[in-house]
Amino acid sequence: MGTAQQSREQAQGQEALLRELEEQMLQGRMRDIGLKVLVLSGKGGVGKSTVAANLAVSLAREGKRVGLLDVDVHGPSIPKLMGLENQRLTMDGAQLQPLEVADNLAVMSIAFLLENVSDAVIWRGPLKYNAIRQFLKDVAWGHRDYLVIDSPPGTGDEPLSVAQLVGSPAGAVVVTTPQDVAVSDVRRCVSFCGRLSLPIIGIVENMSGLVCPRCSHEIDLFKTGGGRALAAEANVPFLGRIPIDPQIVVSGDAGTPFVERQAEMPSARAFADVVRQVLQWPGQTDAVGQDNSGSRTVR
Ligand code: ADP
Repeated sequence: MGTAQQSREQAQGQEALLRELEEQMLQGRMRDIGLKVLVLSGKGGVGKSTVAANLAVSLAREGKRVGLLDVDVHGPSIPKLMGLENQRLTMDGAQLQPLEVADNLAVMSIAFLLENVSDAVIWRGPLKYNAIRQFLKDVAWGHRDYLVIDSPPGTGDEPLSVAQLVGSPAGAVVVTTPQDVAVSDVRRCVSFCGRLSLPIIGIVENMSGLVCPRCSHEIDLFKTGGGRALAAEANVPFLGRIPIDPQIVVSGDAGTPFVERQAEMPSARAFADVVRQVLQWPGQTDAVGQDNSGSRTVR
């Protein structure tokens, strides 16, 4: 009996030690990153991944060292948007190597783990949590100014895990479409950030109006203004409206971020404004140098 008890205690001790080591590795990894930008949305299909990919590419075009991490376990679409489909993970020792798409831009997606992207739907909760944690801890990002994280949509366990694991400094870019129904989902997302003490860099209203390519007249297909109104109500910055632009779909399907294809289009100009505000977000300078170890807990 005594020995069984002893070996149980020993195993528990080893497990606790391992957890502690992993925690230290995670914190060390995250300390090498200037600002973690969590791209969040109240629900899927609003353009969260499109915003994440184009934000990462734009920050890299500004000369920043950027990582783009896709932990949207429900539908990892960064490989498609970045033209990196069918890529698989490579390891260097115990570290996962991100794909270097430029000198200063590296990409990692949970899809690289999966044989088939549709596998994602059968993942159980703890497996998803562990995969998210492993991605944050084990990817060899090196020093980065920004890590843009395409988080799972909604306000459930998975975005919660991401927000808790990244530590500080971190901020959220919340993506919505303008309709009331989408805005009310995003209101939940804003209060989720509040409960987690995750500062909101701002709200992006995507698919906001459609500019007729023939006559340049703007049609409010899904209404406009919901995102701005919510930003005012929540007292967080409004980063801008990205119009519906068929070129965004074409770019996404072609695996080329639209900011690279069409700098003069209204959508790309609107996006440049979003990027400028992320670069100027005062939270990052305030937060730099803060203790990174404080894990985020729900209040
Ligand atoms: P989410 O990550 O929120 O599920 P995605 O970024 O995958 O959404 O976008 C869903 C679809 O909408 C994609 O086909 C994408 O190309 C398209 N899309 C996103 N933003 C726009 C926009 N402003 N105009 C037109 N299509 C868009």
